[in-house]
Amino acid sequence: MRVAIHSVDGMKFPNLALMRISAWHKAHGDTVEWFAPLAKYDRIYASKIFTFTPDDPYLPPDAIKGGTGYNAASRLPQDIDETPPDYSIYPQFDAAYGFLTRGCPNKCPWCVVPRKEGGLRVVADIEDICRTNTGFRRTAILMDNNFLAAPPDYCRQQIEKMQRLKIRVDFNQATDARLYNEETARMMATVPYLKYARISCDTDAMLPHCVRAISLLRKFGYRGDVFCYVLSKADGIASALDRIYGLMAADRRAIPFVMPYRDFEHYTTEVAPELRRLARWCNRAWIRKACRFCDYK
Ligand code: SF4
Repeated sequence: MRVAIHSVDGMKFPNLALMRISAWHKAHGDTVEWFAPLAKYDRIYASKIFTFTPDDPYLPPDAIKGGTGYNAASRLPQDIDETPPDYSIYPQFDAAYGFLTRGCPNKCPWCVVPRKEGGLRVVADIEDICRTNTGFRRTAILMDNNFLAAPPDYCRQQIEKMQRLKIRVDFNQATDARLYNEETARMMATVPYLKYARISCDTDAMLPHCVRAISLLRKFGYRGDVFCYVLSKADGIASALDRIYGLMAADRRAIPFVMPYRDFEHYTTEVAPELRRLARWCNRAWIRKACRFCDYK
């Protein structure tokens, strides 16, 4: 069978679902290639992560479409989801990608994770994620939604393994600032980060937790930047600004990053102009440091 895969969001980052689909089909004797509009295929898979990415008009009606950008609840069939990814389709990327844990025990009303993934469970070991079909990788992008909600012994064991095997990691969905205490902060301060530690500051109530998490990381010796996601709705700009300024005041190396809220229920793709302006100001550090938002034209 001739199978095509298509990353509708583009090729700037690897699409883990397509990597698993490719591996699964190759293991079943099929040929897998990137989608080309005029070619003939027996099956086409299209994956879209972001709701704001426009659909590809060249996709035929029988293409199998999946990913949060098409349907927040879409999941891969279990056997494909459990197939180790095929890294050969992305020779331009050298990190390993995966999840140590899936799901989250919380039910934040704006978040798609509880509905899509369910409660938290441990699903992998860092060593297995890094052992890929193109060799062992020493950097790993971990997309866990709430790593610190996993059993503490498991978290400790994984971090010790990262240190021992010299694997640098990025928890790119952030960690939960509420779960930082003396014990977890001591552990998270020693993670061999790829770039920086990440926490999320999605609501006003999270700000004191974030400030505390950063100060605990500092207490236990972490000296790098702390990337802080700041979720904002169009009518919540004042709240987002309080969090941005609060994080900046708390730590010189805190990097607030505005994530405009997108409504997965109604698939709103447009970001209100003022919210877009806030993100443009905040997410370019040199602008944010040069002027306050009220002075940004
Ligand atoms: S803690 Fe994070 S991942 Fe969990 S439900 Fe809330 S926003 Fe989603």
